[in-house]
Order: sequence, then structure tokens, then C-alpha cells
Amino acid sequence: MTDCLFCKIRDGHIPSEKVYENDDVMAFRDVNPQAPTHVLIIPNKHIPTVNDLEDEDAEVLGKMILAAQDIAGYEGIAEEGYRLVLNCNAGAGQTVFHVHMHLLGGRAMTWPPG
Ligand code: AMP
Repeated sequence: MTDCLFCKIRDGHIPSEKVYENDDVMAFRDVNPQAPTHVLIIPNKHIPTVNDLEDEDAEVLGKMILAAQDIAGYEGIAEEGYRLVLNCNAGAGQTVFHVHMHLLGGRAMTWPPG
């Protein structure tokens, strides 16, 4: 079995609060939320970091953003605004090495991020 936490969540071996799923992506609530809405959107395909993306992954990245758009809509934060974040490697704060997009919203955001 894979050692990847998010592959285990994808496969249902570790529980999660799933909020979205299609053939290519799934999304679940972050266990340590940093905002009232904090959802992680992952490709079903195991890709460790943004550095490992290939041309063939372009479509799934688009689907991740469309998933974020949908989720923001039914979370009621589409109009007030939300933030999408991909951390790449440890220096940027990546702790789980399966590409994921953070969808954060429901509170005021500051810029630049820490
Ligand atoms: P990153 O630091 O960008 O790699 O983000 C990893 C995220 O995964 C963090 O925000 C964690 O809170 C979150 N996380 C870790 N374990 C779990 C889990 N079992 N279920 C949901 N989210 C998790």
C-alpha cells in the first residue's frame, strides 16, 4: 500500500470529510482549518509536488480549479472571495507530498501571506 496520506484518504483507508468528487479530483475538509472554509482539492493521480507536473496533467489542474469554483459556490463564499494556494516543497510549507490546492475563505485575508 502507498505511504501517501492523501492517496490513503482518496482510497478511503483514512477517513475524511469529503465535499466533492469526480473521476479526476476529490476534495475534503482540512483537519486543521485555517479559515471557516478550508478545503483541500487533490488530483486522484499521485503527483508529489508542483515540480513533478507534466503536460498531461494540465487538464486535471484545470479541473481542480473548477472544483474550487463549485465548492466556493455552495459554501457561500464565491462573492465575498476566497484564496487558492498550492505550496511547493518544504520551503513553501508543503507537508504532504501529493499535490493539493487549499481553498480558504469565510474570513478576511491579508497579503502577502506568511
Ligand atoms: P501543506 O502544508 O500545503 O502540505 O498542506 C497539508 C494540509 O493537510 C495541512 O493544512 C494539514 O492540516 C492537512 N492535513 C493533514 N492531515 C490531514 C488529514 N488526515 N485530513 C485532512 N487534512 C489533513
